Order: sequence, then C-alpha cells, then structure tokens
Amino acid sequence: MDIQTKINELREELNQHNYNYYILDNPVISDFEFDQKLKELQELEKNHPEFYDLNSPTLRVGGTITKNFPTIVHEYRMYSLDNSYSIEDLQDWEKRIEKTLDEKVEFVCELKYDGASISILYENGQIKQAVTRGDGFQGDEITSNVKTIQSVPLKLKGNYPEKFYIRGEIILPFKEFNRINSERSEQGLELYANPRNTASGSLKQQDSGEVAKRKLDCYLYTIVGNHLPFESQWDMLQSAKSFGFKIPNTAKLCSSLEEVLAFIEHWDTERKNLAFEIDGIVVKVNSFSQQQELGFTAKSPRWAMAYKFKAEKAETELLSISYQVGRTGAITPVANLKPVNLAGTIVKRASLHNEDIINKLDVRIGDMVYVEKGGEIIPKIVEVNFDVRQPDSIKIEFIQNCPECGTELIRKEGEAQHFCPNEDECKPQIIGRLEHYVSRKALDMASIGGETAVLLYDNGLVKDVADFYDLKKEQILPLDRMAEKSAQNIIDAIEESKKIPFEKVLYGIGIRHVGETVAKKLAKRFHSIENLQNASLEELENVEDIGGKIAISIQEFFTKEKNQILIERLKNSGVQMEVGESEKPLSNLLEGKTFLFTGSLTEFTREEAQKLVEQNGGKNISAVSKNLNYLIAGEKAGSKLKKAEAIGTVQILTEMEFLKMVNS
Ligand code: AMP
Ligand code: ZN
Repeated sequence: MDIQTKINELREELNQHNYNYYILDNPVISDFEFDQKLKELQELEKNHPEFYDLNSPTLRVGGTITKNFPTIVHEYRMYSLDNSYSIEDLQDWEKRIEKTLDEKVEFVCELKYDGASISILYENGQIKQAVTRGDGFQGDEITSNVKTIQSVPLKLKGNYPEKFYIRGEIILPFKEFNRINSERSEQGLELYANPRNTASGSLKQQDSGEVAKRKLDCYLYTIVGNHLPFESQWDMLQSAKSFGFKIPNTAKLCSSLEEVLAFIEHWDTERKNLAFEIDGIVVKVNSFSQQQELGFTAKSPRWAMAYKFKAEKAETELLSISYQVGRTGAITPVANLKPVNLAGTIVKRASLHNEDIINKLDVRIGDMVYVEKGGEIIPKIVEVNFDVRQPDSIKIEFIQNCPECGTELIRKEGEAQHFCPNEDECKPQIIGRLEHYVSRKALDMASIGGETAVLLYDNGLVKDVADFYDLKKEQILPLDRMAEKSAQNIIDAIEESKKIPFEKVLYGIGIRHVGETVAKKLAKRFHSIENLQNASLEELENVEDIGGKIAISIQEFFTKEKNQILIERLKNSGVQMEVGESEKPLSNLLEGKTFLFTGSLTEFTREEAQKLVEQNGGKNISAVSKNLNYLIAGEKAGSKLKKAEAIGTVQILTEMEFLKMVNS
C-alpha cells in the first residue's frame, strides 16, 4: 500500500473511532490502541508533509498558536432568546403565537446549555471555520481551538448540505471544571469562578494545545444556511445527528403546551444530576414555515422562548458600600460582600443600583443579606435577613458629593440615579467617554484599552475623543511602557477608525440614552449627523423605539456648543458622519406605507425585500392588521394571506408587482 493510501485510511479509521467514542459513547477499541494509531499517523504526517490535511484527526491535540483572533461578520445574525421566568409568561407567549398563526403549533423543547455559543461553518462535509457569537453580528474566529474539541466532527457523514452553519454551545462539564480548579489551587493560582466563563476563556487561549487539554464539549442545536432541506426543528435535529453531529437526545417534540410544562418540571429537578450546567429550557416552534411567519424582533426570534429556572440564593454579610462613577456621571452604589459561593460562582460584589433600591431593601452595613444571580452578570441583593440584624446598625446615608471629584451630586426629578454634573473635569467620566469611544462596539480601537486611555489622559495628550486624531507617534513614544510597535499600533488603530460606519460613531460619541440599537435606528432614519442635528423633537420621537426621554437627550447634546465643536473636529478628521452609499435612500416612493412579506419568496430574500422597502421610504411591520397597506404574498402563503383578505383594506401583491412599485 502506498503512503498516501495508508495515511488516508488511518485518518478515516481514527475519525470513525472518535465518532464511536464521543458521539455514540460506544468505543470499539481501547484507548491504548487508539493512541498507537494516532502516533502512527502523526509519524507518517511528519515524514510526508506533502499529504498535509487541514482536518486531520492529529490536529485534535492542538499545537497551533493564534496571536489575534480575526473578527468575522456572521453571514446570518446570531440572535438572543427572549426570557420567561414563569409558567404564565410561557402561556402568554403561546397565546400570542396562536393569535398570529391561527393554527395548531408543535414545540421542540431543548435544554438551555450554559456555555459559550459558537457558529461552525461546514463546506463539502469539512469543517471550515468556527466563530464565537460576539455581539451577534460579528465574533472572533477560533477555528483551530474548536477543532481540538473531540465531539466536533472534522468531516461529516451521510447526505449533508453543501454549505451550512451549525450552531451550538461549548460547555465545560463540572468534573473538568473541578479538575482544573484543584490543579490551580495546588499551584496557588486564583480559582476560576464558574464553568461558563472558564469555557469561553479557554476558547480564547492562544495555544490550541492548551485548549485541547481542557475537555470542552459541544452541544449543537440549529443549522442555518441557504436552501436547506429541513422542514422543522425536529427534522433538522435528526438530520444533523445523521451527519455525525453530537445532538443532545434530551430534546423532545411536544404537541401541546401541557407537554412543554411537563418537560420543564422534569428538568427543574433532574438538572441537578446532569454532568454540566443548564440555566433553563428553550422552547421552539417546530415548523419552519410557522417560524417564518412569526419572524424576529430586534433582538430575538418570536418563535422561541427561554424558560429560566429560578435562581439560587446565598446568604452573606454586607461589609461596605462603594460608589462608582460611570461615563455619564451616573453614580452606582456597589455592595462589597463577604465572599460566598452562589451556584458554583464566588460572589464578592453586588449591584445596589441606586438610592431607592437601598431604601427599599432597608439594607445596612453588617446585615446578613440574600444574593441572587438573575439574568445579569453581577448578582443582586434581594432581601435582608432581619432576624439577625445587629441592634446598633444604622441606616445608610447616600453620599452627597462625588467620590472622585467632590462635586455636589444632583438627582433629577423622576430619575432614580444620582449624577456628578462635573462632566468636563471629573476623571472617571472623561476616561469613561474615551474608553467607550474606543470600545469594540464603537470605534473599535483594539490597541487602546482602558490603561492606555488613562495614560494618554494623564499625560495631557487626550481629553476628548477628537484629540485622538491629533495624536502623533512622537508624543506617544516617550510614555511609560510604550515602544515603537505599540505606539505605531495606536496610530494605526486611530487611522483605521475613520472607516468605522456612522452608526457606530454615533454610538461612540456617547449621547446619553443612545445605545447600540438606538444609534442604529437613528442612522437608518437620518443618514447623517447634520440631519440628526436638525431633527425636531417630533421627528425624533417618530422613530420606532425612541421615546421622549431619548429625544430630549439627543437635542440637549446637540445644543451644547462644546459638542458641536467636537462633532466638527471629528468630521474634519475624517470620521464617518454619514451612512455609506448603499444605505442611503433610493427614493421616497413608499413613504408612509407599510409592508409585510409572507410565504416563500423567489425573487429576493425577505431581508433584501425589507431593505428595499426601507430604502424607498416605506416601513416594514410584522403582523397583519388594519395598519397594513401591502401584503406581498409568495408561494404557499398561509394564515397571513387569509387574514389580510378578511380585513379587506390590505392590498395583496405578487413579488413582481412589488418590484414594479419600487422601480417605477
Ligand atoms: P441569552 O444569552 O440568555 O439571551 O440566551 C441566548 C443564548 O442561549 C443563545 O445565544 C445560545 O447561545 C444559548 N442556548 C443554549 N442552549 C440553547 C438551545 N437549546 N437553543 C438555542 N439557544 C441556546
Ligand atoms: Zn465627579
């Protein structure tokens, strides 16, 4: 037999043994035999580099070093899930769905794995790329690290689609988490807080050999792509299993909400016996055509709902309270706690949010308090154990002056938060604005972190975000811990930031109440900073999801002269102050009209169609009602078409008729 055939045979054989062991949980050879074969293959590959294969099983042991993980834009956005915390929430959700669909619905229930989500691209049956969720729009490419996870197939079996992304969760089983921590304790290293963070931390290690040593596991639950042959979530799960993926067999097809509730009840107790952590159950509408009808909100699918199990509580002592000053001057009281273990995490701090919360809890220094981990990362104090309160304890007086600059704090009518009004000189506010501007979701200057921002500020080089663009390398070089390379990186990052799209710049300049989503909507509606500056309160409030509070805050920002100067300076430096050509409006042909697409479309994808509507001044809405002007019905249009016909005032168009409307 020639060398190449031998190598190929060994690879096939090892892939099959891997599958038997990690997916089927049914090994047919001993670990020793497996290692012998692996060594044989490694030896052959070493002597015959001409037969290198990107997806050889020998790569499982790792060895590649990645210095920087490249950012990859997800071809299909990775959405979040809506959360529910009670049976009533779920029942409401079911009612909403039934109302929209007007037909019987089946559900698939799955465990909600608590790990790091991942999207893995397969092309022609081979693993191509693995990307973290990131912000849902883009993530980090960590392919060589993911390849070390034994249950992720490198090559597929069966009748798989040519190209698709499979998504799932990478988790660290409790046993492995404890093993790692006991090793760290022996070495005198700080212990890891919980399996989820350890899993995502492990995936970001530069040496894939180190990743391979941690026995990460991966559970997969969805496939996305173009023209996929699946009709339902259940069908997709079974197919994915046949391609060789590790698909949890805990998933269940339910024909009624009663069955869903029984599933939840079962796992609420049974989860304590699982080898890994779950934080709830995910309920999904089974049929893909029904999923299509239901669509998405800005953040999550309407056809899925997470049910979160009740959080565990822990009791501990409140040692002291510190006050943090945020970028906008908002003061947040933080409770310092006696460290306590809460559902596998060591908790030392808890947010107290504001003065009202402190008063409502009636919490005092020295109290024993109950802490709970909700949806947020920082746990919160939910209750005081009054039975053991010390008789000499005193009520907490909220601070009156800024802990950083001493300025007297203000609290506006109707707002819960205290503010330090000294925005020009209060250091954490200045630094906070700089940090916000360079952060990943804003101008994304990876080489300027918090420390560098402080350094630049302390040396009088940067006081506001426009100052970045006046920086010269010679000014940075003499600073502490700076070298030729790091100084150049800073200059490069600043230069690169001039390409960052307007919506992110808008988020980056830090107008109060203008978060990522609002910035996106503003950019979409107004297209340039001038238009936004000139927008009336009414025009602002007419944008979806923008209420009076946000609108006023935007106007306040632009009326301040120093902000006008700042914007002017940024513009002159070449920062993007308007949307790109492709985002600009094409016409106002559809102004004031609402549109909805249903059924399967052949001329364009739903996203393309919706974009056309927006580019021509129209508005997409998600349900059939009297407010709908046009329903564009593709093939197999179902309940929405019927409903629209029943209303009578909705105009029903074919795809071609719609195209004519925008091309006239
Ligand atoms: P959250 O982060 O609370 O918005 O929950 C959404 C995340 O849950 C998703 O991004 C997934 O990473 C994760 N997840 C865990 N298990 C599942 C599952 N079975 N189906 C869908 N998402 C899941
Ligand atoms: Zn201050």
